[in-house]
Amino acid sequence: MKILFFGPNGSGKGTQGAIVKEKYGIPHIETGVIFRENISKGTDLGKEAKGYINRGELVPDSITIPMILNRLKADDCKKGWLLDGFPRNLTQAQELDKALSKENIKIDIVIDMVLDRQIAKNRIMGRRLCANDNNHPNNIYIDAIKPNGDKCRVCGGSLSARSDDQDEAAIDQRHGIYYDTKTGTMAGCNYFKNISAKNNGIPKIVELDGRPGVKEVSAELMAKLG
Ligand code: AMP
Repeated sequence: MKILFFGPNGSGKGTQGAIVKEKYGIPHIETGVIFRENISKGTDLGKEAKGYINRGELVPDSITIPMILNRLKADDCKKGWLLDGFPRNLTQAQELDKALSKENIKIDIVIDMVLDRQIAKNRIMGRRLCANDNNHPNNIYIDAIKPNGDKCRVCGGSLSARSDDQDEAAIDQRHGIYYDTKTGTMAGCNYFKNISAKNNGIPKIVELDGRPGVKEVSAELMAKLG
């Protein structure tokens, strides 16, 4: 199963992505996580990406596109993948489509989580990262995934806030890119919706209302995935 997962930062995409990954037993490939791992390990890639990430800008396509296309060739991707945070602009969408078409690989599902920009911004400022597992969602403003004191609600691990999550200018910058329907992320999402419309609903488009709580959104998602 090959799935693209779109949704603005703060929509709960990471939380729902972890559930989709379990359902299909596929790797959850998150571009932002790959970058952050490289930053904490101090790799050349991390050093290069850090400034862009802190400002809320996209890491250049010349770095990001080959990095993801290579990741999709890894052994664990043979049975499928869930791509989260890529494509993030129209060029990345076109390049992904081109690379997959060349290999005759079809995307099965495109999930589009829809959420108002202001709600997404509030949620971003409340989220916390678990030191032990990136798939342990915690958010101080969402009851269903509130941390246990200052510890991870799943494993008790220590929590931290991402610096780019506490910087309003960086959030606005990231959302500006996401909600841009000309060349930004929504343009990338619409690119695949247009393919679906011309191709008898393949890939299948799953639109999700991101406003309800985690459980309600995941119930809707499971119902729509079938
Ligand atoms: P995220 O964890 O998805 O919020 O991503 C954090 C940051 O990583 C973004 O604000 C960008 O700076 C960078 N990033 C993530 N995905 C991409 C992408 N597909 N293309 C370029 N930069 C990205």
